[in-house]
Amino acid sequence: MKIDRRSFISLGVGVIVGSTLTPVPWKLTDDISIWTQNWPWTPVPKDGPDSYKTSVCTLCPGGCGIRVRKIVDRAVKIDGLPEHPVSQGKLCPLGHSGLQFLYGPSRVKAPMKRVGKRGEGKWQKITWEEAISAVTGKLKELRDEQKPHTVAWVAGDDRGTLPQLIYRFLTAYGSPNFIRPPTVQDAYELAAYLMQGQQGTVGFDIENADHVLSFGTGLFQGWSSPARMLSIYGKMHDNKKFVQIEPRLSDTAAKAHQWVPITPGTEGALALGIAHVMIRESLYNEAFVSKWAFGFEDWTDDSGKRHMGFKNLVLKDYAPEIVAEITSVPKPMIEKLARQFARAKKPIAVSGRGQGHLPGSLDECMAVHALNALAGNINQPGGVSVVAEPDYAKWPEVNIDKTASKGLQNARVDGAGSDQYPNARFLLHRLPEVINSTKGDSPVQALLVSDANPLYTLPDTQATKAALDKIPFLVSFSSFMDETASYSDYILPDHVFLESYSDVPTPPGTVQPVIGLSKPVVRPQYDTRPVGNLVIQMAKAMGSFVEKAFAWKDYQAYLKDALKDHWDQLEKKGFAFIKGPQDIPFTDQFNTTTGKFEFYPSARNNANGKDKDILPNFTKVAIEGESGQLPLILVPYDSIRLAGGEIGNPPFMTKTIDETVLLDQTVFVEINPKTARKMGFFEGDRVRLSTPRGQAEVKLHLYEGVEPGVVAMPRGFGHTAYSKYLTDKGVNFNKLIGPIEDPMSGLNAAWGIRANITKA
Ligand code: SF4
Repeated sequence: MKIDRRSFISLGVGVIVGSTLTPVPWKLTDDISIWTQNWPWTPVPKDGPDSYKTSVCTLCPGGCGIRVRKIVDRAVKIDGLPEHPVSQGKLCPLGHSGLQFLYGPSRVKAPMKRVGKRGEGKWQKITWEEAISAVTGKLKELRDEQKPHTVAWVAGDDRGTLPQLIYRFLTAYGSPNFIRPPTVQDAYELAAYLMQGQQGTVGFDIENADHVLSFGTGLFQGWSSPARMLSIYGKMHDNKKFVQIEPRLSDTAAKAHQWVPITPGTEGALALGIAHVMIRESLYNEAFVSKWAFGFEDWTDDSGKRHMGFKNLVLKDYAPEIVAEITSVPKPMIEKLARQFARAKKPIAVSGRGQGHLPGSLDECMAVHALNALAGNINQPGGVSVVAEPDYAKWPEVNIDKTASKGLQNARVDGAGSDQYPNARFLLHRLPEVINSTKGDSPVQALLVSDANPLYTLPDTQATKAALDKIPFLVSFSSFMDETASYSDYILPDHVFLESYSDVPTPPGTVQPVIGLSKPVVRPQYDTRPVGNLVIQMAKAMGSFVEKAFAWKDYQAYLKDALKDHWDQLEKKGFAFIKGPQDIPFTDQFNTTTGKFEFYPSARNNANGKDKDILPNFTKVAIEGESGQLPLILVPYDSIRLAGGEIGNPPFMTKTIDETVLLDQTVFVEINPKTARKMGFFEGDRVRLSTPRGQAEVKLHLYEGVEPGVVAMPRGFGHTAYSKYLTDKGVNFNKLIGPIEDPMSGLNAAWGIRANITKA
């Protein structure tokens, strides 16, 4: 197939390509629900009565409603729950696979103690009493030595009751180190905090928008609530236009009405170029900007100092001809994108690459958010809103003793909240470097990990492993033998979501706040315990002030207490609506110093006080590597058929992968045919892919949908743990890339790395 790169830009071709290159998701999910049954560990169920139980899927933050069919006591199929307000009866392939997580071969079936070397795979089964006593014994020892601050807990999320329970445990114990893995929400949240003064997740009302301008977001590849997005995709031709800006013809780009290729890492500059045209041609919402925005025009502070506003910056520095040079998007296209966006009735701009497992650049996020402000769609139907966290868990403050008080006065080990990164909440990607660069004892003496798999998901796997080697005590609460669990000293296995209760907070990216309740639909299959119960049991075993902070007998009692106002409805329906942005008067929605949307965020004031560092601006995030020896740029891509986060791909989803992505054990990287020809390579060639962080053997797939000079690799392969269905298939992208710190926020803003390919 030969497709001219620029021809993709036109609307018509984009749609045709979308339907020919992209599998129809409904067919895929239908096949999947059949294939889930065809595995050796899935016996044909005995004859018996069937029944249905409703719950919520927690395999990603999407929180889709599910309906599980059971025959006698065995779950045999998972379907979507039609009445669920977010997923509306849809499920993604991962959700359909839930039973493979329940019955699959990679589950940890009982508490385990490592008996061989770390990672050697030699384990001894122990009792729960022994497991809890081993962990609390170590924690007590560190507290007795006045080192509670050397304990860190990496939890999968910071929202919902379980993270609050863990946070409470650490507070009573004396550690400030509750850390969550990075996601795109970090950049969204920080941009919204700086520009709107509100803390919360950011919701994009794509359902009610009529023009969606996406700066690389994998809208149909697993972003936000994937089932919600597939539902929107089903209706997208009725009333809206999707424009996808990204360097690769992804599934989202192929499904969009228009794909705009761009030089990777320059999306923020394009947003500012679009802003330039909107301002120059007076296409922005003047009513919103003049009444509700601050920092658009130049302004004078109380000391009489003049400051540059957003308008002046953008008009001076981001003319389309300048932006065309930076981005390789032609000037007429930049102007067209701006006019299309500005003339739509309800346009919305979305930033963040792929599924959103990486936080991205704060400046890029702010530049895209500024476009939404120019369109006047902040806190409007079809626009962007900040969704505050529900405060349903209202517990009395934790009473702490002297040891805890002293421990909590220590700086966080990841540097979040420090003078250098005052606005950051979690910076897990910094932890390996912090530990590895410390001479002597590691600043983390005990690491506990739940619902996370940092040894697989953090950039620079080798550095992460070296850091874990320096931590003397490592505990995993994983249900599965994942990379971090298999490298731990103890595993205290959690139930999986079909076996236990948990609340599911509003899915990130959605506007309507809704809580879901995940419920047990089958009895626990193995000797596992919910992490929430373990936190309470550990607190009680710790005694003293730690125990006193936990009045509940178990996690279910705690959960019921937290959700008391909603419990009956949650039990009955599985979800409950809570107060959201639409319930807050518009006038109360900007909590900034000026009470307005701030193009010039007062909270971002920095030491050097340069206006250009405070306004949304484009600073190209540095890329690691030297172009002479490494002439290519390696970028990752996400697929809805690949779980790229802490959860490993279920076996049947791996079966759905195309042979141009994975063949046997080898992963393909995509390269433009022109680049391949220039370097003397052909389709299917086996090559060595090298970056400054590592090397891997891969095969080449020649693909005109990737920009010349770029190599694209799927995320989600290269597991070294789990089961034979996943281990050693392909390459983990994180082995080949390291973090690049965004100097203003501390977030990891790496979007790619320099690379080379040579004959293997
Ligand atoms: S989108 Fe997330 S929550 Fe919904 S079915 Fe898929 S994995 Fe489960």
